[in-house]
Amino acid sequence: MAITGSFKCNKCGNIFYAQIGGLMYAAELRCVDCDNREYVKVGIKEKTCERCGGKMTDKISTPMCPSCKSRDNKIEEKQLNLD
Ligand SMILES: [Zn+2]
Ligand SMILES: [Zn+2]
Repeated sequence: MAITGSFKCNKCGNIFYAQIGGLMYAAELRCVDCDNREYVKVGIKEKTCERCGGKMTDKISTPMCPSCKSRDNKIEEKQLNLD
């Protein structure tokens, strides 16, 4: 199940909204470089990012801070997405 929430960056203190996690019948891939996210069929582990040409992978479980590009952050407030 995907989770939407606000995250706080441990590096720069920025607070931002992001969504993480796959859906029941779809896996989530995130781009290593630009944090673009895309739902793909379960079983697809990686692909090329259409936005920046970087690598998208299912290994990423934290969003990227839009301000300092760190993935060192923690969720402050979460809402469940019921789709
Ligand atoms: Zn990208
Ligand atoms: Zn940051």
